[in-house]
Amino acid sequence: MDAKPQTSVKLVLLGEAAVGKSSLVLRFVSNEFQEHKEPTIGAAFLTQKCQLPNRTIKFEIWDTAGQERFASLAPMYYRNAQAAVVVYDVTKPASFVKARHWVSELHAQASPDIVIALVGNKVDLASDDNGPRVATAEGQALADDEGLLFLETSAKTGSNVQEVFTALANKLPEPA
Ligand code: GDP
Repeated sequence: MDAKPQTSVKLVLLGEAAVGKSSLVLRFVSNEFQEHKEPTIGAAFLTQKCQLPNRTIKFEIWDTAGQERFASLAPMYYRNAQAAVVVYDVTKPASFVKARHWVSELHAQASPDIVIALVGNKVDLASDDNGPRVATAEGQALADDEGLLFLETSAKTGSNVQEVFTALANKLPEPA
């Protein structure tokens, strides 16, 4: 029996289409990866627990579609979220521009207590001969300026994926 207190936490994923939001969730929840994932339409909902030494966090994960036609629905998902993961693709500089936009939107519209992680995904594809790469220092600078957690991940290899959710769980305020 697990006697640790459990807290449910609403978490929303935001970011341009195809940066790997659904893949990060799939890796976190089922430790799987699919090379050809069907795009998420609207939003998908999944839950996953994260065990901390003194409590259990149950993430209620809302994976929103990145397609522009759904962007106007996003506020519905992040309005009462306690945690957010803003994802970009390190091999797609335009997706980093979009991530900046999501961070400012969250700061303007979401709860002031929201805990945000900025995630640069697809590090397995980043190499000198693979075109432009969003530098780690650029991601870190945005995170430092905006008070965000920051990690570079690969949903494909699993690198740093669990760590994103553990870092968020650790930064959530303890219940009174
Ligand atoms: P979403 O639209 O942001 O939810 O993106 P998806 O999770 O649907 O991923 C879009 C495509 O990128 C899919 O073909 C995935 O298999 C692929 N993908 C996602 N994450 C990674 C990663 O870390 N590395 C690589 N190489 N491909 C990835």
